[in-house]
Amino acid sequence: MTAPLIDPFARAITYLRVSVTDRCDFRCVYCMSENMTFLPKKELLTLEELDRMCSTFVRLGVQKLRITGGEPLVRRDIMTFFQRMTRHLDSGALKELTLTTNGSQLERFADQLYAAGVRRVNISLDTLDDQKFADITRWGRLPQVLRGIDAAQRAGLRVKINAVALKGFNEEELPAITRWCAERDMDLTWIEVMPMGDIGNEDRLGQYWSLKDVRARYAQHYTVTDLAERTGGPARYVRLEETGQKIGFITPLSHNFCESCNRVRLTCTGELYMCLGQEDMADLRAPLRAHPDSDASLEDAIRAAINLKPKGHDFDYSRQRLDGQMSRHMSHTGG
Ligand code: SAM
Ligand code: SF4
Repeated sequence: MTAPLIDPFARAITYLRVSVTDRCDFRCVYCMSENMTFLPKKELLTLEELDRMCSTFVRLGVQKLRITGGEPLVRRDIMTFFQRMTRHLDSGALKELTLTTNGSQLERFADQLYAAGVRRVNISLDTLDDQKFADITRWGRLPQVLRGIDAAQRAGLRVKINAVALKGFNEEELPAITRWCAERDMDLTWIEVMPMGDIGNEDRLGQYWSLKDVRARYAQHYTVTDLAERTGGPARYVRLEETGQKIGFITPLSHNFCESCNRVRLTCTGELYMCLGQEDMADLRAPLRAHPDSDASLEDAIRAAINLKPKGHDFDYSRQRLDGQMSRHMSHTGG
Protein backbone atom coordinates (compact mmCIF):
# COMPACT_ATOMS: atom_id res chain seq x y z
CA MET A 1 0.00 0.00 0.00
CA THR A 2 1.28 3.47 -0.85
CA ALA A 3 0.89 5.92 2.04
CA PRO A 4 -1.53 8.75 1.23
CA LEU A 5 -0.44 12.37 0.99
CA ILE A 6 -0.95 14.10 4.33
CA ASP A 7 0.38 17.61 4.89
CA PRO A 8 1.88 18.96 8.14
CA PHE A 9 -1.53 20.27 9.21
CA ALA A 10 -3.09 16.79 8.92
CA ARG A 11 -4.94 17.68 5.71
CA ALA A 12 -5.21 14.77 3.25
CA ILE A 13 -4.36 15.87 -0.28
CA THR A 14 -6.89 14.19 -2.54
CA TYR A 15 -7.49 16.83 -5.18
CA LEU A 16 -5.10 17.88 -7.94
CA ARG A 17 -5.74 20.76 -10.30
CA VAL A 18 -3.67 20.66 -13.44
CA SER A 19 -3.09 23.59 -15.74
CA VAL A 20 -2.32 22.00 -19.10
CA THR A 21 -1.51 25.21 -20.95
CA ASP A 22 -0.93 28.87 -20.12
CA ARG A 23 -2.47 29.90 -23.44
CA CYS A 24 -6.01 31.03 -24.00
CA ASP A 25 -8.29 32.17 -26.80
CA PHE A 26 -9.71 34.91 -24.49
CA ARG A 27 -8.01 37.76 -22.66
CA CYS A 28 -10.31 38.35 -19.66
CA VAL A 29 -9.44 41.70 -18.16
CA TYR A 30 -9.08 40.40 -14.57
CA CYS A 31 -6.95 37.45 -15.67
CA MET A 32 -4.58 38.56 -18.41
CA SER A 33 -3.14 41.67 -19.92
CA GLU A 34 -3.88 42.24 -23.60
CA ASN A 35 -0.33 41.41 -24.62
CA MET A 36 0.71 38.23 -22.89
CA THR A 37 3.98 36.44 -23.38
CA PHE A 38 3.38 32.72 -23.26
CA LEU A 39 5.80 29.94 -22.45
CA PRO A 40 7.81 28.38 -25.25
CA LYS A 41 6.22 25.03 -26.13
CA LYS A 42 9.34 23.07 -25.12
CA GLU A 43 8.88 24.20 -21.53
CA LEU A 44 5.53 22.44 -21.33
CA LEU A 45 5.09 18.93 -20.05
CA THR A 46 4.20 16.69 -22.96
CA LEU A 47 0.90 14.86 -22.81
CA GLU A 48 2.82 11.69 -21.92
CA GLU A 49 4.55 13.53 -19.07
CA LEU A 50 1.25 14.94 -17.87
CA ASP A 51 -0.09 11.39 -17.84
CA ARG A 52 2.88 10.16 -15.77
CA MET A 53 2.57 13.08 -13.41
CA CYS A 54 -1.19 12.68 -12.85
CA SER A 55 -0.97 8.89 -12.62
CA THR A 56 1.65 9.24 -9.88
CA PHE A 57 -0.63 11.57 -7.93
CA VAL A 58 -3.51 9.13 -8.37
CA ARG A 59 -1.30 6.34 -7.03
CA LEU A 60 -0.59 8.57 -4.02
CA GLY A 61 -4.25 8.98 -3.25
CA VAL A 62 -5.52 11.81 -5.43
CA GLN A 63 -9.17 11.06 -6.19
CA LYS A 64 -10.20 14.15 -8.08
CA LEU A 65 -8.48 15.70 -11.07
CA ARG A 66 -9.52 19.06 -12.45
CA ILE A 67 -8.02 20.09 -15.77
CA THR A 68 -7.69 23.81 -16.28
CA GLY A 69 -5.40 26.42 -17.79
CA GLY A 70 -5.20 28.93 -19.58
CA GLU A 71 -7.92 27.40 -21.65
CA PRO A 72 -7.44 23.64 -21.40
CA LEU A 73 -9.39 22.89 -24.56
CA VAL A 74 -7.05 24.93 -26.78
CA ARG A 75 -4.13 22.62 -26.01
CA ARG A 76 -3.42 20.48 -29.07
CA ASP A 77 -4.60 16.86 -28.72
CA ILE A 78 -5.85 17.42 -25.19
CA MET A 79 -8.58 14.83 -25.76
CA THR A 80 -5.84 12.20 -25.87
CA PHE A 81 -4.91 13.16 -22.32
CA PHE A 82 -8.54 12.95 -21.12
CA GLN A 83 -8.85 9.55 -22.79
CA ARG A 84 -5.70 8.34 -21.02
CA MET A 85 -7.12 9.36 -17.66
CA THR A 86 -10.21 7.22 -18.25
CA ARG A 87 -8.28 4.15 -17.08
CA HIS A 88 -8.02 5.62 -13.58
CA LEU A 89 -11.78 6.17 -13.50
CA ASP A 90 -12.30 2.61 -14.71
CA SER A 91 -10.01 1.23 -12.00
CA GLY A 92 -11.91 3.20 -9.34
CA ALA A 93 -8.75 4.97 -8.13
CA LEU A 94 -9.95 8.26 -9.54
CA LYS A 95 -13.44 9.31 -8.46
CA GLU A 96 -13.77 12.36 -10.67
CA LEU A 97 -12.22 13.77 -13.82
CA THR A 98 -13.41 17.26 -14.57
CA LEU A 99 -12.41 20.58 -16.10
CA THR A 100 -12.81 24.32 -15.89
CA THR A 101 -13.25 25.96 -19.26
CA ASN A 102 -14.35 29.20 -20.86
CA GLY A 103 -16.71 27.11 -22.99
CA SER A 104 -15.44 28.34 -26.35
CA GLN A 105 -14.45 24.87 -27.58
CA LEU A 106 -17.18 22.80 -25.97
CA GLU A 107 -19.29 22.58 -29.07
CA ARG A 108 -16.46 20.58 -30.57
CA PHE A 109 -15.40 18.54 -27.53
CA ALA A 110 -18.39 17.96 -25.24
CA ASP A 111 -19.23 14.49 -26.57
CA GLN A 112 -15.62 13.33 -26.40
CA LEU A 113 -15.30 14.61 -22.85
CA TYR A 114 -18.36 12.66 -21.82
CA ALA A 115 -17.03 9.55 -23.55
CA ALA A 116 -13.76 9.92 -21.59
CA GLY A 117 -15.70 9.83 -18.33
CA VAL A 118 -16.13 13.52 -17.55
CA ARG A 119 -19.53 14.09 -15.97
CA ARG A 120 -19.34 17.66 -14.69
CA VAL A 121 -17.82 20.80 -16.10
CA ASN A 122 -17.31 24.29 -14.73
CA ILE A 123 -17.88 26.98 -17.33
CA SER A 124 -16.77 30.53 -16.65
CA LEU A 125 -19.27 33.17 -17.69
CA ASP A 126 -19.57 36.63 -16.14
CA THR A 127 -22.36 38.22 -18.16
CA LEU A 128 -25.21 37.36 -20.52
CA ASP A 129 -24.85 40.57 -22.50
CA ASP A 130 -23.08 40.22 -25.87
CA GLN A 131 -21.27 43.53 -25.69
CA LYS A 132 -20.25 43.20 -22.06
CA PHE A 133 -19.01 39.70 -22.73
CA ALA A 134 -16.84 40.97 -25.57
CA ASP A 135 -15.57 43.76 -23.31
CA ILE A 136 -14.68 41.57 -20.33
CA THR A 137 -13.08 38.74 -22.33
CA ARG A 138 -11.61 41.10 -24.95
CA TRP A 139 -11.43 38.27 -27.54
CA GLY A 140 -14.44 36.13 -26.65
CA ARG A 141 -17.87 36.01 -28.28
CA LEU A 142 -20.91 35.08 -26.22
CA PRO A 143 -22.89 33.10 -28.86
CA GLN A 144 -20.00 30.66 -29.26
CA VAL A 145 -19.91 30.03 -25.50
CA LEU A 146 -23.69 29.63 -25.33
CA ARG A 147 -23.49 27.04 -28.09
CA GLY A 148 -20.77 25.33 -26.04
CA ILE A 149 -23.03 25.25 -22.99
CA ASP A 150 -25.86 23.80 -25.08
CA ALA A 151 -23.51 21.12 -26.40
CA ALA A 152 -22.29 20.26 -22.91
CA GLN A 153 -25.82 19.79 -21.60
CA ARG A 154 -26.83 17.81 -24.68
CA ALA A 155 -23.83 15.53 -24.15
CA GLY A 156 -25.03 14.82 -20.61
CA LEU A 157 -22.48 16.93 -18.75
CA ARG A 158 -23.66 18.64 -15.59
CA VAL A 159 -22.77 22.34 -15.90
CA LYS A 160 -21.79 24.74 -13.17
CA ILE A 161 -21.41 28.37 -14.10
CA ASN A 162 -18.58 30.29 -12.44
CA ALA A 163 -19.04 34.05 -12.51
CA VAL A 164 -16.46 36.50 -11.25
CA ALA A 165 -18.24 39.16 -9.19
CA LEU A 166 -17.20 42.49 -10.64
CA LYS A 167 -18.27 45.76 -9.19
CA GLY A 168 -20.18 47.98 -11.58
CA PHE A 169 -20.06 45.22 -14.20
CA ASN A 170 -22.38 42.34 -13.36
CA GLU A 171 -23.98 43.60 -10.15
CA GLU A 172 -27.24 44.46 -11.88
CA GLU A 173 -27.27 41.16 -13.76
CA LEU A 174 -27.32 39.03 -10.62
CA PRO A 175 -31.06 38.21 -10.76
CA ALA A 176 -30.96 37.58 -14.52
CA ILE A 177 -27.94 35.28 -14.34
CA THR A 178 -29.46 33.45 -11.38
CA ARG A 179 -32.76 32.97 -13.19
CA TRP A 180 -31.01 31.80 -16.36
CA CYS A 181 -29.07 29.17 -14.41
CA ALA A 182 -32.26 27.98 -12.69
CA GLU A 183 -34.10 27.68 -16.00
CA ARG A 184 -31.31 25.56 -17.42
CA ASP A 185 -30.77 23.55 -14.23
CA MET A 186 -27.19 24.74 -13.85
CA ASP A 187 -25.44 25.47 -10.57
CA LEU A 188 -23.97 28.91 -10.07
CA THR A 189 -20.93 30.03 -8.10
CA TRP A 190 -19.65 33.56 -7.66
CA ILE A 191 -15.91 34.15 -7.34
CA GLU A 192 -14.19 37.12 -5.79
CA VAL A 193 -11.47 38.78 -7.84
CA MET A 194 -8.07 37.72 -6.54
CA PRO A 195 -4.83 39.66 -6.85
CA MET A 196 -3.12 37.40 -9.40
CA GLY A 197 -0.60 38.73 -11.91
CA ASP A 198 -0.05 41.96 -13.75
CA ILE A 199 -3.18 42.77 -15.75
CA GLY A 200 -2.05 45.98 -17.36
CA ASN A 201 -4.03 49.10 -16.56
CA GLU A 202 -7.01 47.41 -14.89
CA ASP A 203 -7.81 48.50 -11.34
CA ARG A 204 -8.19 45.54 -8.97
CA LEU A 205 -9.69 47.33 -6.01
CA GLY A 206 -12.12 48.93 -8.44
CA GLN A 207 -13.07 45.44 -9.70
CA TYR A 208 -13.49 43.97 -6.24
CA TRP A 209 -17.10 43.25 -5.32
CA SER A 210 -17.14 41.50 -1.95
CA LEU A 211 -19.24 38.37 -1.87
CA LYS A 212 -20.70 39.60 1.40
CA ASP A 213 -22.29 42.31 -0.74
CA VAL A 214 -23.33 39.74 -3.34
CA ARG A 215 -25.02 37.73 -0.60
CA ALA A 216 -26.75 40.88 0.63
CA ARG A 217 -27.92 41.52 -2.94
CA TYR A 218 -29.46 38.04 -3.02
CA ALA A 219 -31.19 38.74 0.27
CA GLN A 220 -32.98 41.67 -1.42
CA HIS A 221 -34.56 39.27 -3.91
CA TYR A 222 -34.76 35.92 -2.10
CA THR A 223 -34.89 34.20 1.27
CA VAL A 224 -31.29 33.05 1.69
CA THR A 225 -30.36 30.06 3.90
CA ASP A 226 -26.72 29.23 4.68
CA LEU A 227 -25.82 25.60 4.02
CA ALA A 228 -23.31 23.65 6.08
CA GLU A 229 -22.02 21.83 3.00
CA ARG A 230 -18.25 21.94 2.37
CA THR A 231 -16.22 20.40 -0.43
CA GLY A 232 -12.76 20.89 1.05
CA GLY A 233 -12.44 23.95 -1.12
CA PRO A 234 -13.06 27.64 -0.82
CA ALA A 235 -16.74 27.48 -1.75
CA ARG A 236 -19.53 28.17 0.72
CA TYR A 237 -23.13 27.58 -0.27
CA VAL A 238 -26.54 29.12 0.32
CA ARG A 239 -29.98 28.00 -0.81
CA LEU A 240 -32.49 30.37 -2.35
CA GLU A 241 -35.72 29.18 -0.76
CA GLU A 242 -38.00 30.51 -3.52
CA THR A 243 -36.27 28.54 -6.29
CA GLY A 244 -34.47 25.82 -4.32
CA GLN A 245 -31.26 26.83 -6.09
CA LYS A 246 -27.91 26.30 -4.43
CA ILE A 247 -25.55 29.22 -4.97
CA GLY A 248 -21.82 28.98 -4.25
CA PHE A 249 -19.49 31.72 -3.07
CA ILE A 250 -15.74 31.45 -3.45
CA THR A 251 -14.44 33.98 -0.98
CA PRO A 252 -10.73 33.70 -0.49
CA LEU A 253 -10.56 37.33 0.56
CA SER A 254 -13.53 38.14 2.75
CA HIS A 255 -13.55 34.64 4.23
CA ASN A 256 -10.59 32.38 4.85
CA PHE A 257 -11.02 28.76 3.77
CA CYS A 258 -7.57 27.30 4.28
CA GLU A 259 -8.21 25.03 7.25
CA SER A 260 -10.02 22.46 5.10
CA CYS A 261 -7.84 22.75 1.99
CA ASN A 262 -7.37 19.36 0.29
CA ARG A 263 -5.76 20.48 -2.96
CA VAL A 264 -2.55 21.30 -4.75
CA ARG A 265 -1.96 22.73 -8.20
CA LEU A 266 0.33 21.58 -10.99
CA THR A 267 1.33 23.98 -13.75
CA CYS A 268 1.90 23.05 -17.36
CA THR A 269 5.67 23.16 -16.76
CA GLY A 270 5.51 20.77 -13.83
CA GLU A 271 5.68 23.21 -10.95
CA LEU A 272 3.63 22.15 -7.97
CA TYR A 273 2.01 25.00 -6.04
CA MET A 274 0.98 23.92 -2.60
CA CYS A 275 -1.15 27.05 -2.09
CA LEU A 276 -2.81 29.37 -4.61
CA GLY A 277 -1.92 32.35 -2.45
CA GLN A 278 1.77 31.68 -1.83
CA GLU A 279 4.80 31.85 -4.12
CA ASP A 280 6.31 28.57 -2.84
CA MET A 281 6.46 25.79 -5.41
CA ALA A 282 8.32 22.59 -6.12
CA ASP A 283 9.75 21.61 -9.48
CA LEU A 284 8.45 18.16 -10.37
CA ARG A 285 9.57 18.26 -13.99
CA ALA A 286 13.25 17.74 -13.09
CA PRO A 287 12.77 14.44 -11.20
CA LEU A 288 10.24 13.32 -13.82
CA ARG A 289 12.63 13.92 -16.71
CA ALA A 290 15.73 12.70 -14.87
CA HIS A 291 14.20 9.24 -14.39
CA PRO A 292 12.17 8.27 -17.44
CA ASP A 293 11.84 4.65 -16.29
CA SER A 294 11.00 5.08 -12.62
CA ASP A 295 8.60 7.29 -10.70
CA ALA A 296 10.37 6.79 -7.35
CA SER A 297 12.16 10.18 -7.39
CA LEU A 298 9.00 11.90 -8.55
CA GLU A 299 7.07 10.34 -5.66
CA ASP A 300 9.76 11.50 -3.23
CA ALA A 301 9.61 15.02 -4.65
CA ILE A 302 5.81 15.08 -4.34
CA ARG A 303 5.95 13.93 -0.71
CA ALA A 304 8.64 16.49 0.09
CA ALA A 305 6.50 19.22 -1.49
CA ILE A 306 3.37 18.23 0.42
CA ASN A 307 5.42 18.46 3.61
CA LEU A 308 5.90 22.14 2.79
CA LYS A 309 2.23 22.95 2.22
CA PRO A 310 1.65 26.16 4.16
CA LYS A 311 -1.17 26.68 6.58
CA GLY A 312 -2.83 29.33 4.46
CA HIS A 313 -2.63 32.38 2.21
CA ASP A 314 -2.13 36.05 3.00
CA PHE A 315 -4.53 37.79 0.61
CA ASP A 316 -6.02 40.83 2.25
CA TYR A 317 -7.98 43.74 0.76
CA SER A 318 -9.37 44.85 4.09
CA ARG A 319 -7.04 47.78 4.56
CA GLN A 320 -7.84 49.07 1.08
CA ARG A 321 -4.52 47.95 -0.26
CA LEU A 322 -3.44 44.80 -1.98
CA ASP A 323 -1.69 42.62 0.53
CA GLY A 324 -0.59 39.17 -0.59
CA GLN A 325 -0.50 40.16 -4.27
CA MET A 326 0.81 37.29 -6.43
CA SER A 327 3.13 37.99 -9.33
CA ARG A 328 1.89 35.02 -11.35
CA HIS A 329 -1.32 35.05 -13.35
CA MET A 330 -4.32 32.89 -12.53
CA SER A 331 -3.84 31.22 -15.92
CA HIS A 332 -0.47 29.94 -14.65
CA THR A 333 -1.95 27.84 -11.87
CA GLY A 334 -5.43 27.62 -13.32
CA GLY A 335 -7.43 29.15 -10.48
N1 SAM B 1 -9.89 29.39 -19.08
C1 SAM B 1 -10.67 28.63 -18.19
C2 SAM B 1 -11.82 29.45 -17.63
O1 SAM B 1 -11.83 30.66 -17.81
O2 SAM B 1 -12.69 28.84 -17.01
C3 SAM B 1 -9.88 28.01 -17.06
C4 SAM B 1 -8.80 28.84 -16.42
S1 SAM B 1 -9.36 30.31 -15.57
C5 SAM B 1 -7.83 30.95 -14.99
C6 SAM B 1 -10.13 29.62 -14.13
C7 SAM B 1 -11.04 30.54 -13.38
O3 SAM B 1 -10.27 31.57 -12.80
C8 SAM B 1 -12.10 31.23 -14.21
O4 SAM B 1 -13.37 30.97 -13.64
C9 SAM B 1 -11.77 32.70 -14.11
O5 SAM B 1 -12.92 33.49 -14.11
C10 SAM B 1 -11.04 32.75 -12.80
N2 SAM B 1 -10.13 33.88 -12.66
C11 SAM B 1 -9.16 34.31 -13.50
N3 SAM B 1 -8.50 35.36 -12.99
C12 SAM B 1 -9.05 35.60 -11.77
C13 SAM B 1 -8.80 36.53 -10.73
N4 SAM B 1 -7.84 37.44 -10.82
N5 SAM B 1 -9.58 36.47 -9.62
C14 SAM B 1 -10.56 35.53 -9.49
N6 SAM B 1 -10.83 34.63 -10.43
C15 SAM B 1 -10.10 34.66 -11.56
FE1 SF4 C 1 -8.61 32.70 -20.47
FE2 SF4 C 1 -9.90 31.69 -18.41
FE3 SF4 C 1 -8.11 33.63 -18.04
FE4 SF4 C 1 -10.37 34.22 -19.24
S1 SF4 C 1 -10.15 33.49 -17.14
S2 SF4 C 1 -8.32 34.82 -19.96
S3 SF4 C 1 -10.81 32.39 -20.35
S4 SF4 C 1 -7.68 31.61 -18.75
